[in-house]
Amino acid sequence: MPKITCHISQSLQKILEEQSKLRGESISHLVSMALAQSFEVPHHTLFQVSTTGALVQGIYERAVSSKYLLNYGDFGIGTFENLDGEMVVLDGVIYQARSDGKVSKITEEVGTPFAIVLFFEPDLDEISEEINSLGDVRKVCDRLRDSDNIFYAFRIDGKFDHVHTRAMKATAEGVPLAQAASVQPEFEFKNINGTLVGIWAPQFSSAFNVAGYHFHFLSEDRTKGGHLLECSGKHLRVRMERMNDFHLSLPESQEFLQADLTKDISKDLAYAEQIHDKENADGERK
Ligand SMILES: [Zn+2]
Repeated sequence: MPKITCHISQSLQKILEEQSKLRGESISHLVSMALAQSFEVPHHTLFQVSTTGALVQGIYERAVSSKYLLNYGDFGIGTFENLDGEMVVLDGVIYQARSDGKVSKITEEVGTPFAIVLFFEPDLDEISEEINSLGDVRKVCDRLRDSDNIFYAFRIDGKFDHVHTRAMKATAEGVPLAQAASVQPEFEFKNINGTLVGIWAPQFSSAFNVAGYHFHFLSEDRTKGGHLLECSGKHLRVRMERMNDFHLSLPESQEFLQADLTKDISKDLAYAEQIHDKENADGERK
């Protein structure tokens, strides 16, 4: 993280030290927070568009535009209008990994029905031990997390021995997510440099988010990617940010306003998020 040196008044310094003691937060954190507030930049804040409940019910039309999303973050995951592929937001650029295996950079305005973004400012930076599965990724991240009750963002970079992803196929509005997810093409990549963009959300957020880990992958050359199903790699760089502010932006479409969102979506969501047992996936494997 960059370091700044500056001069402040003695009285300000006194307040800063007192507040730091009182709140149990570092001076760096307090200064970053104050600067972010004064420049109106979100700090350790997740910005989420719509809810997983709405997505499970088939509400896939635009809630906000991709450009609007970038006002709230430079890092994150999501999907596009009509579930047309997987969204990866990395270093302030939005990428679309589509079901034909192609990845494109979003330069025009594109709508998103669901996304979660933040300005990535890691609190932790370290090199992982050997990772042999997505389960190992979760274990490494679990070890870094200090709570089950706030949100976390993870960025994992390096050379992956193996990455298995899927990308949603554009689907008509109203088709339930579980049904749409049953025909999604999957992709296999070997010896590939890239980045995992991930969010960990607490169990209590399962009513509107994916509880636990949710990772999307993007290759270093930005030509491959998708929703992560499996991976392995050695000496990966793992960065983590703790997120304790949350902004939820709800759609104003008639579909959303009239939808019955009281149903328990956990089973449908788990099905949509995971690998499906099927011989020779309907989609191509690369
Ligand atoms: Zn995903």
